[in-house]
Amino acid sequence: MQSDHDILIVGAGPAGCAAAYDLARSGKRVLLLDRRTFPRPKACACGLTRKTLKALRYSVDPVIERVCHEIVLQQTADPASPNGQVRVKTRKAICAMAVRENFDDFCLQRTLASARNGGSVDLRKIETILALRELPTHIELDIQTATGIETLTAPILIGADGSNSQTRRLLYQDSHGEAPALANGFALEATVPYAALPSTLPGGDSPQDLVFDFSPLPGGYGWLFPKRDHINIGIGAFAPTNPTSSNQINAVTRALLLDYAKQKLGITTLDHITGQHLGMGGHTYIPRGRVLLVGDAAGLVDPLTGEGIHSAIVSGQAAATAILSNPADAAAAYARELAPLQQTLAFSHRAARAFYADPSRGFKAMRIPLLRSLILKTYADGIPHTKLLTALAKLV
Ligand SMILES: Cc1cc2nc3c(=O)[nH]c(=O)nc-3n(C[C@H](O)[C@H](O)[C@H](O)COP(=O)(O)OP(=O)(O)OC[C@H]3O[C@@H](n4cnc5c(N)ncnc54)[C@H](O)[C@@H]3O)c2cc1C
Repeated sequence: MQSDHDILIVGAGPAGCAAAYDLARSGKRVLLLDRRTFPRPKACACGLTRKTLKALRYSVDPVIERVCHEIVLQQTADPASPNGQVRVKTRKAICAMAVRENFDDFCLQRTLASARNGGSVDLRKIETILALRELPTHIELDIQTATGIETLTAPILIGADGSNSQTRRLLYQDSHGEAPALANGFALEATVPYAALPSTLPGGDSPQDLVFDFSPLPGGYGWLFPKRDHINIGIGAFAPTNPTSSNQINAVTRALLLDYAKQKLGITTLDHITGQHLGMGGHTYIPRGRVLLVGDAAGLVDPLTGEGIHSAIVSGQAAATAILSNPADAAAAYARELAPLQQTLAFSHRAARAFYADPSRGFKAMRIPLLRSLILKTYADGIPHTKLLTALAKLV
């Protein structure tokens, strides 16, 4: 097999870029394939926790629009209710805000400039991928381009093509039987310029508040994420409220988002509502063969918080480390590298079921200072959950 590239990566979002960056810096020749031309819009509130900023190999300060030191957690729609909300100020910033289109383009440009030690990153726009064949020594990937169908080859392929991953579909269809079901989340968002807001917001919030609101729908939350000149407002459902079904996503509708925008921001129309599924359930993913799935394609969104950029970056880096350390059996090495993240997500999976079954219990915990600080630290820094569990056990 002759190939111009050592690794093919389908998808140039955070997961694909994180993998490409580390591989190219270590001398590998990488081909990044994406069906969109960057900068491209992507449905995402782009809240970047401390752990996400820490995981990145470079500063993304140039695209950070706001840094939040305060978080508002809401339990009921009535702002006057005494148990309605918990407002927490933190010394260190808890979350940084960017616009996803700018964040992704910035990361892509850094990745394209990352090559060292004879490595390279090429970016190619394709229409889609059509077929994937795993052979004993390499991968064959049929791609559809603007001018026709072409076959690419490389020893290893990374599937970083998001929650609707075609790589994942082709991989299980062609090589490994039926794809294990991914848990399904869904979220809708829109942007509202500060200039369009009434002088006082009907929900009692300040326009710059970072709000997670568990009242509008079961199994998820509504949010207000303040950016430089607008608020990103959204609703998302992540955790099944019924153990035998994942129908919680049916509650995520344009009508509900409009109602929520009226209740929180006092506005009755929203331009450009966009939405996307979130890939979850990847704590059970077992890498096999020459195709490694990363980010949403592997189902690595945190089901408690809906956060996925951190997992995308960490899993992309884990895939790169695995390929560099054990190219002969990258899947086994990737399984080991991914295990700590999967353990965290398995904990989140259980915690999400318990929390969303009765959010008032979670709010009780948030009123205890020690627990509140541990819960926030877990969200912001991703501290090992054992610390949180030990603290919980002492209090029960
Ligand atoms: C409304 C909403 C709000 C969210 N808010 C947050 C948040 O505030 N913070 C957070 O951490 N997470 C958030 N998430 C989750 C986050 O967006 C994802 O977890 C993250 O984007 C996953 O990154 P990724 O690289 O795996 O996939 P993606 O970012 O989806 O990138 C996949 C790339 O693959 C390309 N692609 C797809 N199919 C093909 C194909 N067939 N051929 C070639 N290219 C292809 C796409 O064009 C895209 O560039 C949100 C999600 C939604 C839907």
